[in-house]
Amino acid sequence: MKDAARKTAPSDFANKLATLSPAKRALLDKLSAKGKHGGNTLIAKTLRRLGISHAYCLAGTPIHKTMGACIKEGIRVLGVRHQQAAVMMSLAHNYTTGKMTSIAMASFGPAVTNMVTGVLNARDDCWPLIVIGGRQPIDTQHMGCFQDLDAIPIFSPITKWTAAVRKTEDIPEYLERAYHIATEGRPGPVYLDIPVESLERSATLPPSPARETAPPPTVDTQKIKLAADLLSKAMRPALLLGKGIRWSMPTEELSRLIGKLNMPFSASPMGRGYLPDDHPLCFNGLSTDLQGGADTVIMVGARMNWTFRFGSELAKDAKFIQIDICPDEIGRNITPDIGIVGDIKTVLQALLAEIEHSNPADAITKDRCSWVEHMDARRKERNSQMQALSNSDNIPISPHRMCREIRDFLPRNAIVTVDGSTIMAAVQQVIPSYLPASRLTAGVNGCMGTAVPYAIGAKIANPERPVIAISGDSGFGFNAMEMEMAVRHRVPVIFIVANNGGIVGSVFQNIVAPDYTERTALFEPGIRYEKIMEAFGGHYESVSRAEEIGPALARSANSGLPACVNIFIDPDVPPLDHMG
Ligand code: ADP
Repeated sequence: MKDAARKTAPSDFANKLATLSPAKRALLDKLSAKGKHGGNTLIAKTLRRLGISHAYCLAGTPIHKTMGACIKEGIRVLGVRHQQAAVMMSLAHNYTTGKMTSIAMASFGPAVTNMVTGVLNARDDCWPLIVIGGRQPIDTQHMGCFQDLDAIPIFSPITKWTAAVRKTEDIPEYLERAYHIATEGRPGPVYLDIPVESLERSATLPPSPARETAPPPTVDTQKIKLAADLLSKAMRPALLLGKGIRWSMPTEELSRLIGKLNMPFSASPMGRGYLPDDHPLCFNGLSTDLQGGADTVIMVGARMNWTFRFGSELAKDAKFIQIDICPDEIGRNITPDIGIVGDIKTVLQALLAEIEHSNPADAITKDRCSWVEHMDARRKERNSQMQALSNSDNIPISPHRMCREIRDFLPRNAIVTVDGSTIMAAVQQVIPSYLPASRLTAGVNGCMGTAVPYAIGAKIANPERPVIAISGDSGFGFNAMEMEMAVRHRVPVIFIVANNGGIVGSVFQNIVAPDYTERTALFEPGIRYEKIMEAFGGHYESVSRAEEIGPALARSANSGLPACVNIFIDPDVPPLDHMG
């Protein structure tokens, strides 16, 4: 109210200011701004203080000045071709580093709405994210300004927190708050609307607030004892794990737990690699068998959503132990026998303290061995099915054979991002993951178009590791222009296009219009996607025979450039199971 009154009735002081010569006015501004910073610099300085090292943006008014201020503060600013990709790159950057080290920023109106899908991914994959959107002066709302948008109602339902920073002096506090909300408890996205007036005025940067972080939930020792008791007596225990373990990294505790109990495990699509896929107790792709056969199941860092079939695959009398930092998650779709709210690492340490010194009865040890042997037999059966599929010499190349060739090329420390339908399933079935946060899929909401920007964000955050994006030709189309960004910023990712000529190859076309009057779900035949990379100045390859894949990948890696490898694969493969 006060601000509005000031605006309509300028004070005498303001009148006097208006009479000053430009030179005197500039001098006065300089003196009065002593110790103060403009809004853009305040953003940059606060981000830097929070440990943000990278900002993914698309230059536009008003954030072009914020981008400049970030560069002055030593933040690497990367320019994308679509704001959706900026958010996705930031997500992959944060996930692969395990910390919030990057943010995404966009200018006004449509630039801001272009970020919605990436923000949705952050919500659905429980990933930390700060997104900053520009905004026309709030007082001018409803005047019909260029690209005017109140983005608050758009982002509120899909973020942990959404706010408009109306005053310059509030910028540091809002950013600090955004950082903590995005990273504490269950991670998630925060959206900040920063109107032009906040950017243009000046304020001082207060010292870093001494923040009182909420104490982690105290672990319920009674429940720990009950869970330890259930697990100790289990004859057929099983562990289900997901990518939520990224944020406390209890990999050592998990190894000790499965070792102590001789407990088989299965990971969610992105939960793979935290315990390596070649671990003898790893039964990825056999989650249905594992859940159906186990008498006690413990779930960490994952949810009983569609990924694990809402719990419907658990044996009727199986005991279920669920650990999650988010109290609302406990009991979703299925009531656990024991639900423990807390940080996974802390809970597992308490659990291990109870279990580790006990010795199971011989009968239990024997039962657990037979359980693992049973699962082992299932794994052998499955491996031979996969091997048969992967050995196909067919032309066009089968998706499984393509994946076998990629697998044989990849070093153990590679990061693989993947989207698409048929192709994502084949990748999950054939290409293993050995290290944490090294497999990024289309995620819980199955978002197409993620493979390209996730790979770029992952490579920028992990320049020493090989990063490869495997996209379906449909998924590739969403963000293919970002290959130019990769060339410009020198980000040598290998982008593979699994080209089956349409959405799920020919499968959807056969449903949409079987008579092929118009190609609605099939694309133009024989598209040479690698030519896009030729135009951008990167390395490019096209492959139609399986034995050409390895050499094409080797040339791509040796080029030191971002590379696009277009691989023609069989369009007539029926849809596959995504759980790998
Ligand atoms: P996935 O897709 O791998 O199945 P989800 O993203 O569905 O995994 O689930 C991750 C789960 O991990 C969420 O329910 C989230 O609350 C939980 N989580 C995240 N961080 C922690 C933590 N530090 N301790 C316990 N649970 C956590």
